Amino acid sequence: MRVCLCLLLSLSVSRAALPPRIKDAWCPQRTLEVGGILGERLKLWRERRLWRVAADPSLLGPFERGTPIEIWTQPRVSRAAQGEEVGASPLWQGEHIGKWLHAATLAYEQTHDPKLLSALREAVRRLLAAQKENGYLGTYPPEKRFYAPPDEDAWRSWDIWTHRYNIYGLLSYERFHPDPAVVRACVRMGDLLRETFGPGKRDMTQIGTRHGMSSGTLLESIVMLYERTGERRFLEFAEHIVRMSEDNPKFRLMSAMLERQDVSGPGDGKAYQLMAVLLGYGELYRMTGQARYLQAAVNGWENIRTGHLYETGGPWTFAHVSFKNKECFAPPEFFDPTNPVEVCSVTTWIQLSLQLLRITGEARYAAEAERAVLNQLMASQSPDGIAWSTHPAANTSERKYVASLNCCASSGPRALEMFATHLIGATSEAVSVASYLPASVAIPERKLKLVVRGDYPFASSVSLVLEMAEPAWFPLDLALPWGAKDMRVEVNGNKQRIERRSSGFYRLRRLWRPGEHVRVTFEFPVTAHVRSGRNGKSWIAFSRGPVVLAAESLFEIPRRRNAVALIEGDRIKGGPRLAPYYRVGSPHGPVVTYFPLK
Ligand SMILES: [Zn+2]
Repeated sequence: MRVCLCLLLSLSVSRAALPPRIKDAWCPQRTLEVGGILGERLKLWRERRLWRVAADPSLLGPFERGTPIEIWTQPRVSRAAQGEEVGASPLWQGEHIGKWLHAATLAYEQTHDPKLLSALREAVRRLLAAQKENGYLGTYPPEKRFYAPPDEDAWRSWDIWTHRYNIYGLLSYERFHPDPAVVRACVRMGDLLRETFGPGKRDMTQIGTRHGMSSGTLLESIVMLYERTGERRFLEFAEHIVRMSEDNPKFRLMSAMLERQDVSGPGDGKAYQLMAVLLGYGELYRMTGQARYLQAAVNGWENIRTGHLYETGGPWTFAHVSFKNKECFAPPEFFDPTNPVEVCSVTTWIQLSLQLLRITGEARYAAEAERAVLNQLMASQSPDGIAWSTHPAANTSERKYVASLNCCASSGPRALEMFATHLIGATSEAVSVASYLPASVAIPERKLKLVVRGDYPFASSVSLVLEMAEPAWFPLDLALPWGAKDMRVEVNGNKQRIERRSSGFYRLRRLWRPGEHVRVTFEFPVTAHVRSGRNGKSWIAFSRGPVVLAAESLFEIPRRRNAVALIEGDRIKGGPRLAPYYRVGSPHGPVVTYFPLK
């Protein structure tokens, strides 16, 4: 059997100290180039926002000079009155460097821009230089740091969160640019956290928002540190983090997911942080092989997909009780098209879907990640390449793109970059196509370059060209995108028989000859999606293939058996013109995705 080598993502990838106990079933292959809509959006971020963030004094300044204690005493309302924008706060400003390192590292792997490499090295150098003697690498004044005696502000601390993103960003960079100093810095952060919150020490869930769930996101970074170093104390600490969260009745995410409870309960259902903890369970499963960790992540994912997504693939949230805020999951009956989708949430949803695709090899995860990218994520990025919307709703008068350094604008580019590295994969047997966005991808194990051409997702037909020197036999697995009803596959003009696998991918087996063309033609019907939600209201949305449609004005739709018949070309009969959701309301103007049913 062939060994699936995910580490071949790049020849410069450094080998982790410890191979995971569970090998990934689906290994992303190296994307050489991306075109189409994703290519355009990546270019905008890489050429514009990436450099703006790199030059922002708030990226590294707070690590180097610290943050004044006043940030704790000045109420948020007054900061907002002084012009502070949504999603930006000195309390969590330490997260941006880790997020930037992650996204910019992935960008460099495709652009190989020497200027970007220097910027990455300089950012890492400055961040490492700001680390304190005891390993602390945050932005808080000494009396507010996570290892200081807890005070009345501990519940709103984002200090552990900052360390979660530091370790994540630095280890993501180091995977491609091996550097013992980077690993040492992460070990020192990990040790300080472990010495403060390890077995027999303080309860980590007593610090941080939402019953400590914002701190619980540290789990994934600690498992990464274990994988990178092979140091058992980090695995023990990771398992202890799970125990601490399970012992807190208001957090308890893993047991709640194993019991198939709704995600609106644990940690007040705070969507972004909840999904980030699920990511930690996924990584812990890879390193330990303990099925309950994977099961908790899968159950959480299924619960979100069933009851908490818009048609755009974005996880909507709503404060249905006073102790929650608008970024918390609410029970499905609180659906309403004015509910927001935090960009950090859709990013983490995409990240979770891609992680589960790698672990399980199941096509449903690829389809959900792609639907969220093509609709919700693209809509969140301003076409100026700089600003991002923070909480776009499906129906809104204005998406309100924000250019400043804020949590959402630091998250969104990571989703674009991560998705671009998961277009084509390899399993133990097959080459596997997860997305048909135009791209070229190297599959070194097969000595193959796969080139995808076409105008997907706007056109329903794509062509795949296999560039290889010698004929070779291998199965080609093809995903059926969200919103596609069927697909027809031809090779050199001849229709092929495809067989659906238990993974959800469709398999084509043959002996491939160099330069052969595969044409995949999808059936992309217009589909009507009826939803009902709070206040007894019902709504209808339309999609064509994987593209969700929207209009600029509200229009009441009569209840009838066949709503699709109301669509004539690109219009609702007697009503407004429909266009792809991501484009309507971009950069300014109203968006209507769900039309009221009368
Ligand atoms: Zn955010």
